[in-house]
Amino acid sequence: MLLFSYFFSRSVMHKKYNCSPWVDTPALLNHFYNTDRRMGVGGIKKTMSIVVQKYGGTSVGSVERIQHVARRVVQAREAGHDCVVVVSAMGKSTDKLVDMAKEICPYPDEREMDMLLTTGEQVSIALLTMALHQLGHKAVSMTGWQAGILTEPVHGSARIKKINPEPVLNELKQGKIVVVAGFQGWTEDRQITTLGRGGSDTTAVALAASLNAERCEIYTDVTGVYTADPRIVPQARKLKSISYDEMLELANLGAGVLHPRAVETAKNHDVKLVVCSSFVDEPGTKVEEESNMEQGLVVSGVAHDKDIAKITVTKMPNRVGTLSKLFTTLAENHINVDIIIQSTYVADTTNISFSVSGNDLKKTLEVLENNKDKLSYEEVLHEDGLAKVSIVGAGMISNPGVAARMFHELSEADVPIHMVSTSEIKVSCVIPAGKTEEAVNALHTAFGLNAEDQAVVHGS
Ligand code: ADP
Ligand code: ASP
Ligand code: MG
Repeated sequence: MLLFSYFFSRSVMHKKYNCSPWVDTPALLNHFYNTDRRMGVGGIKKTMSIVVQKYGGTSVGSVERIQHVARRVVQAREAGHDCVVVVSAMGKSTDKLVDMAKEICPYPDEREMDMLLTTGEQVSIALLTMALHQLGHKAVSMTGWQAGILTEPVHGSARIKKINPEPVLNELKQGKIVVVAGFQGWTEDRQITTLGRGGSDTTAVALAASLNAERCEIYTDVTGVYTADPRIVPQARKLKSISYDEMLELANLGAGVLHPRAVETAKNHDVKLVVCSSFVDEPGTKVEEESNMEQGLVVSGVAHDKDIAKITVTKMPNRVGTLSKLFTTLAENHINVDIIIQSTYVADTTNISFSVSGNDLKKTLEVLENNKDKLSYEEVLHEDGLAKVSIVGAGMISNPGVAARMFHELSEADVPIHMVSTSEIKVSCVIPAGKTEEAVNALHTAFGLNAEDQAVVHGS
């Protein structure tokens, strides 16, 4: 029955349907900097150095934590930098807002969700700014729209289209520390939007690009980027540096330490990025152009994503244009498809299976139902409670047999495989979500990534 299968990596779909943010650099930036054609990239010589720092939810999870962050920011300011600080909502407050909305209606309106969720960041910018005032510093808070962050008109996961750096530069010029709300922007129609969960990282990197900042520092609850999530693999090893490409692959495959679009923006705009802890002072991980995460190792990291759903659309017409019709319909509805498998059922029909984020399952089923006539399938089957485990490493390109080794290790650990996807630098397997920890640990050990010491993590 199964005559042929196609495996597409998410990155192919990603490249096709998404575009990168365009960062504006108006005349004002040139006024703010001395223009000297003999100096520096693009002929702009910096008269002062801007540093963008971003603090995540755990790092600003209480009043004490906010005061601690304020002291860190002041250190950077007193070292002579102009500081732009991007903050997330306090602790788990975004999750709490989502839960409240869902108590009122199971599938809340997306515009109203953005209106609700953006309030979380607004609390932290105001409190952090007050803490900076208490330390005797001039500071001002700004929402996404006040900071000139323009996004596409999509609720829940908008991409940044353009940033006008003028409002932030004007405040910096007056000697203020500027505290910007992460994760939010607005549209040309003056609608408030959010950038997707974890999107404050992207706010920080996009601001760093638009302000031509010296670097962007992402402060979080672990001490850097590790070979796997240190909460799942206590023996995970911290990396001194990682290339943009490998980090992008890990982030897209579920390594939540950085938002994938933050890495993409940093790569596209050459932003110097460093991930470190806001809890302890120790060197973090640099994300940069060329870097060998672990010299000599074929696999340099293991990532997982615990919220995957598989959908099978049965008996679609087996002719040219079927795949295009199906996936264009999903893309038009902003549904990100990951692994795709096509199998010929009988001569004139075909079954198509694909995976989506568990969050998108309901929307995907609705879109398919609404387009049943156009797509002419027989039925839609779905399976949730799945996870994806992936191994990543630039060394795979020249080492055959890595996928076979992964399948072997998973079978030794008694983990069934539902779907597979490969690219030059990664192999991913969809497995039952309940087997995630065993699978990630088995692969981490088998590919020689374990460290001697346990990783340092804070928060829950
Ligand atoms: P923040 O609120 O600071 O943005 P996040 O929870 O978004 O923090 O990201 C930090 C978390 O990312 C860590 O606590 C860790 O559990 C998780 N994580 C997943 N994969 C990795 C990895 N490879 N390296 C480091 N942390 C990782
Ligand atoms: N507060 C948002 C979230 O929890 C954005 C972020 O933290 O980056 O997803
Ligand atoms: Mg985050």
